[in-house]
Amino acid sequence: MTSVEPTQIATTAITSGRDGSGALAPTLSTSSTWFSSGVEESNSQAKAVHQTGNYSRYANPTVEAFEHAVAELENTQAALAFASGMGAISSVVLALCSTGDHIVAQRNCYAGTYAFLVGPCKRLGIDVTFVDGRNAQEFVAAVRPGKTMLVMAESPSNPLLDLVDLEVLGSIKGPFTLVDSTLATPLAQRPRDHGVSIVLHSATKGIAGHNDATLGVIAADLDLINDIWAYAVLHGATASPFDAMNGLRGIRTLDVRLARQSETAQQIAEWLLAQKNVTDVHYPGLKSHPQHKLAVKQMRYFGAVLSFEIAGGKPAASKLVRALKLVRPAVTLGGPETLISHSSSSTHNSVDIGTKTETGLNESLLRLSVGLEACVDIKNDLANALKNC
Ligand code: PLP
Repeated sequence: MTSVEPTQIATTAITSGRDGSGALAPTLSTSSTWFSSGVEESNSQAKAVHQTGNYSRYANPTVEAFEHAVAELENTQAALAFASGMGAISSVVLALCSTGDHIVAQRNCYAGTYAFLVGPCKRLGIDVTFVDGRNAQEFVAAVRPGKTMLVMAESPSNPLLDLVDLEVLGSIKGPFTLVDSTLATPLAQRPRDHGVSIVLHSATKGIAGHNDATLGVIAADLDLINDIWAYAVLHGATASPFDAMNGLRGIRTLDVRLARQSETAQQIAEWLLAQKNVTDVHYPGLKSHPQHKLAVKQMRYFGAVLSFEIAGGKPAASKLVRALKLVRPAVTLGGPETLISHSSSSTHNSVDIGTKTETGLNESLLRLSVGLEACVDIKNDLANALKNC
């Protein structure tokens, strides 16, 4: 507890998730299990919900500290951490949906989410309707009363930086609504403030922020978190305390990292727009972004990630990536290093060609996760490589 209640989320990022011991840094609790005083206590532990002191798959003190921090940042009653972002997505879907249920989901999303919805969900008889998230009314129109259990959005989307109007999404009543807010992090937007039921993050990305953790998390009302927890302990995609420790450490510096990354991303996006062999740039901070006004309305930062299209398609994209010296080709985002990926052939390789065409995920598209290097060095590297394309 702090003696002065934070008024700004940047302060909450520093004070949240303290374990009450006086320790400022996260305390690493590696024990997978704790002994009890006997049969009676073991029995009460067996009946407890999401409570530490029993067995780490049910709850762990380090993971709990990370969960408390995320809940505070997202302004929710509770949070639940997972072994990865996909662990969170698959656990939420399977906790809430059964055979015969219906999901409304955004077509333009992270490929793992898409693969889960068209693969295992279809196999289990969970029907999915895909919509264009840029028109949030499509989510509303696709809801089948009594059948739709979950409405799933991703904003900004990976890799095209499309936005979903959170106010419209949050107004949907009946099914649970979920926003994958990974590219924004809790410091850039808070879907729960717009009435959305569940906020989800791949904390592997900006939240942990140093490419040293694989972690997922959801934040929601306590009853809903407890219901999902009851399934999640069986699914077993449990967060590791080591990763939760790195997640909590990442939260402490998230505001300054995101401020710097967003500022650099803005400059790089504007500069890329002026390059003759760059045909389009996708970044919510650009005035030319079709949803820039919405971004201004619902985002505190525009984020570390942008994507751009290069003249000459995949051969030119490959040439550019090969020519880069500082910027490294890698599939993750949100960390300190500036990373580039050819989405169509890497993270989104598994997406069918029809969906790629429909969502605008073409062979010319390169996603850039802007890191913490000096802006001028990133720009020089890109300028040098663009000259060779
Ligand atoms: N959601 C988004 C938007 C992502 O970009 C990713 C991964 O890139 C995931 C979810 C999955 O996260 P993880 O890799 O931690 O499972």
